[in-house]
Amino acid sequence: MRQITLSNGKTVEVECLSCAITSGVIEPDGGVIVETEHFHAHQDVAYPIKGLIILASKRHIFSFDELTEEEKLDYIHLLTKLRKAQREVLGIEYVYYFYNEDTTHHFHTWMVPRYDWMGDFGRSVESLRPVLLHARKERNTKEMVEDVLEGIRALAKAFNESSI
Ligand SMILES: [Zn+2]
Repeated sequence: MRQITLSNGKTVEVECLSCAITSGVIEPDGGVIVETEHFHAHQDVAYPIKGLIILASKRHIFSFDELTEEEKLDYIHLLTKLRKAQREVLGIEYVYYFYNEDTTHHFHTWMVPRYDWMGDFGRSVESLRPVLLHARKERNTKEMVEDVLEGIRALAKAFNESSI
């Protein structure tokens, strides 16, 4: 078991944070954006970036080559739907995708929207970490977090109404 401090300051003891979130043991702030049989989409509001989505598998795996045929199809369909929702609901023009296999949790893809302010940190992959850290440290006001939560609600609503 590992101790993990959540974005709301609460500390939990879990074997794997992704398992805890995708199984519903831990409810991420803002709740679920959408879930399918094999995947679960939510946001980590510790990084207050509107429209940032974390797409996690429900199964405790780490790499693309562990996905079953059914999971592969579910993944690409959901990923592209989420991308479409980011564009149509939140007007997000560009997204950076990131996933690392040596995670301490399990398989999850970051979908990080690109906003104008991020240009200060350069382009492409080298800007990603500074952008996330900047968001966590400098964009963590009540108003900004509320705006992020509003984004989650808007995305979830689009999926609930099947308008995506
Ligand atoms: Zn897991």
